[in-house]
Amino acid sequence: MRDIPSPAVYLVAKTSLVHDGLNAYLRDIGSPDWTPDAAVSDGENLIEAAGRMCYRSWQAYDPEKPEATNPNVRRVREGNEAYIGNVLRQAHGSILEHVNLTFIFRGVSRVVTHELVRHRVGMAYSQESLRYVRLDDLPFWLPEAARDDDAVERKFRDVVAFLESVQTDLGTLFGIEDLKDFTTKKHLTSMFRRLAPMGIGTTIMVTGNLRSWRHIIAIRTAGAAEEEIRIVGSQVAAICKREYPHAFQDMEQDDETGEWTFANMKV
Ligand SMILES: Cc1cc2nc3c(=O)[nH]c(=O)nc-3n(C[C@H](O)[C@H](O)[C@H](O)COP(=O)(O)OP(=O)(O)OC[C@H]3O[C@@H](n4cnc5c(N)ncnc54)[C@H](O)[C@@H]3O)c2cc1C
Repeated sequence: MRDIPSPAVYLVAKTSLVHDGLNAYLRDIGSPDWTPDAAVSDGENLIEAAGRMCYRSWQAYDPEKPEATNPNVRRVREGNEAYIGNVLRQAHGSILEHVNLTFIFRGVSRVVTHELVRHRVGMAYSQESLRYVRLDDLPFWLPEAARDDDAVERKFRDVVAFLESVQTDLGTLFGIEDLKDFTTKKHLTSMFRRLAPMGIGTTIMVTGNLRSWRHIIAIRTAGAAEEEIRIVGSQVAAICKREYPHAFQDMEQDDETGEWTFANMKV
């Protein structure tokens, strides 16, 4: 058994602006008095641009700029934080869908990955294949209650060690090391994995848009959620707050429970 001290979350990609393209668009609609704020993340500028495009509210009405302004709008909300704050309160969250974050979750169990992939809307997944990857060495994270008690921890370690030996024994019985045909090896590896524990540490790459991440953070860090996914969800929440303080301005963590909650629950 290879001990996993904690599931790990890596931010590996995020949405960025193509400034030339956005500037060209703004020029072509009449150069409104709006440009992306250099002090604000690309993602949050993009959210604001999406909203202002919808309502032609790049600036207050100017008859000289008919494609950028409209006579219904005599005053516009200034500043990215205030703009997105209003979007969240109004639950116009669809514009948050333009911004994606991609994470790799390393050393998470199949308990976590299975719960995660239930989130379908706005999400993309690539999961380590346990048909391809042999399981001779079982990475495993011990839940808190298993670490708190010596006898329980021993039971966990014994069972995982036994299941590890089952993997190598099956490999020996089928002479998998000497097989050349990859399809046969894949077939056998897939058979062996049926006897691997659900708590086996694995890796998944997950992309989601900010609207989806808000939903996932809310329900997967709540007290009712599963222990390990709460740890993962909490790391994701901290990264989202760091990267997009305006889009997550209404999200707070409860120091006692660890839950991340939103003032505007469903945007
Ligand atoms: C504490 C907890 C316990 C759970 N226990 C169980 C369990 O025992 N058994 C079980 O099977 N699952 C269980 N689940 C999983 C849960 O039922 C959902 O499948 C999972 O959380 C995915 O969330 P979602 O449905 O919001 O999907 P997402 O894909 O994240 O969807 C986001 C939102 O989009 C909307 N949406 C998505 N799909 C549709 C649709 N087809 N039609 C209309 N609107 C849609 C909904 O508003 C939804 O909330 C549990 C989840 C939690 C958090």
